[in-house]
Amino acid sequence: MDGTLRDSDLKARVLDATNIVELVGRTVALKRRGKEFVGLCPFHQEKTPSFSVNPAKQLFYCQGCKVGGNAFDFVMKRDRLEFKDALRQLAQLAGIPVAEIHRDGQKPGEMQVLRDAQSAACMFFEKQLASPAGQAARDYLASRGFTADSIQRFRIGLALDSWDGLLNALSRKFAPPQLALAGLVKPRESGSGFYDAFRNRVMFPIRDAEGRIIAFGGRVMPGSDDKAKYLNSPETALFEKGRCAFGIDLAREKILASRLAAVVEGYTDVVMAHQFGCTNVVSTLGTALTPRHMALLGRFADKVVLLFDPDSAGDTAVDRAVELFLTQDKVEIAVAGLPDGLDPDEFLLKRGAAVFDEVLAGATDALTYKWRQLVRKLSRSSGDLTGQQKAVDEYLALLGAARQSGFVDPIRWGAALQRVSRLTEIPASELQRRFKSRPAGKTRSSQAAGPDRPTTSVPPPAPPVSGRDRAERWILAGLLRLPGEWIRVQLEIQPEDFAEGPRRVLADTYWRHQRDEGEPVLSHFLDLLDDPAVKAMAAQLAEEAERLDDPELWLNSGLQYLLSERRRALPEKEVSQLRGSTSESDVGSLQRIFESSKIDDGRRLPFRYVG
Ligand SMILES: [Zn+2]
Repeated sequence: MDGTLRDSDLKARVLDATNIVELVGRTVALKRRGKEFVGLCPFHQEKTPSFSVNPAKQLFYCQGCKVGGNAFDFVMKRDRLEFKDALRQLAQLAGIPVAEIHRDGQKPGEMQVLRDAQSAACMFFEKQLASPAGQAARDYLASRGFTADSIQRFRIGLALDSWDGLLNALSRKFAPPQLALAGLVKPRESGSGFYDAFRNRVMFPIRDAEGRIIAFGGRVMPGSDDKAKYLNSPETALFEKGRCAFGIDLAREKILASRLAAVVEGYTDVVMAHQFGCTNVVSTLGTALTPRHMALLGRFADKVVLLFDPDSAGDTAVDRAVELFLTQDKVEIAVAGLPDGLDPDEFLLKRGAAVFDEVLAGATDALTYKWRQLVRKLSRSSGDLTGQQKAVDEYLALLGAARQSGFVDPIRWGAALQRVSRLTEIPASELQRRFKSRPAGKTRSSQAAGPDRPTTSVPPPAPPVSGRDRAERWILAGLLRLPGEWIRVQLEIQPEDFAEGPRRVLADTYWRHQRDEGEPVLSHFLDLLDDPAVKAMAAQLAEEAERLDDPELWLNSGLQYLLSERRRALPEKEVSQLRGSTSESDVGSLQRIFESSKIDDGRRLPFRYVG
């Protein structure tokens, strides 16, 4: 079979060759129920399964979020891919060759030649490592703690100390200019001819998320006087440095399962992490994180943790993380430092995977991490007060610069200011004022965001004043954080119970979403709010909710307050009439009135423990 099938034929063949139960089962734990398989929906948060896969029809459907379709739809939604990429992925899984899909200016044939050249080079490097000439490299890898299994899985190889080893081996199949386009050889500066791009290096193939080799990274052999410790392939039609992550093909499954991706600095760190079973670890290729990295990782992860050696941690890398934190809102960015100044690979060898996972779990969001780093640095260098003041100034300058580096959603900015206010102990309104008085820089936002959205118009958060304000906020914040609680809350109160204005609008939207579409996922839910005032308040409440150590307690307190207010508002007359009466039915009414003003803990049991 060749790769020249028409798209519709190909689509049908791929669907025929795909078992949707097996495919979905890689992401969702499925149980058989009758003719179907059911599991927890990967596209919305739920506690009882409403997601089903029908093997006979080869379709999936979720009762909760009303998402459904065939294998292509599933992969497109799960990995956030376009159709042609989903097609390619499933074709590959099914072992069906796909004609290359064009990328700008490249004919499919040329792209295929580039890929073939990378594969051939990889096999050549692997052979070199296994050869007698590879003894020193094998010793080196063993001394770093690499197992044979890791070497095989990552397809690590060796470029010998030679100017034309690869060139000679591959030139029977590829013309040297093609190898140059693939970044494997370089044209000689003087006269004609080519020479190997990688010499005397341990070679790490860099693959895309689908496992295809697109480039190489070479680490210099010990004892070499080459000053470049690491060397990557130049950018080619296949390889764009800022959008690749080393190890992504091997890490994607665990990242999808845990929704968390860890980013380390070096190839060896990635290999070692995987060797220890921490297979959600990838590395950028010696560059700081870019929005394109975030797009790649965001296909699989909700949260990205950057792991730095705290002492050498490039300030730039952390600053870049803060910038990304502010300018994109699909993925949460956190930072963790390894204790004792150890590299990740040393750390794993000494402490093991469990402690490594603990470090990842304890990662701090990028804003907080940067703040603590500044405070540590500046309070060390000067007295307490000036140190603190310097830290604040430097921090605000960084945030201001970050905000000008790209479009910052006003909601995200508002939430960030809240966090900054807590960290610096400067009131949010004061922060707002300081940023307003900064000269507005040029932003890249105009095309991306459509009509100019003023980034400084987020209303300063009004501190809750009355008990009622507080109660309503606690309820809404609690519901945003614990959507599963709504089912019992709606038995007690309705949107009309909220004071008119943004809170009632928010409650109304929330209630409708729960009724029509099921439990809202916070980030999607915020998108549904059109009114900027409501959106800003919702973001702020979400932020507050995140901080509540026991959101259910606050939710209940808020509910209790509203219900007791309602009880007080009962027509006095009705109650006093009933009080004076002795008939049994009236006593019953009185009891019901008082019962309805209490939170009935028993009532929620059937809902909480259903299924
Ligand atoms: Zn769903």
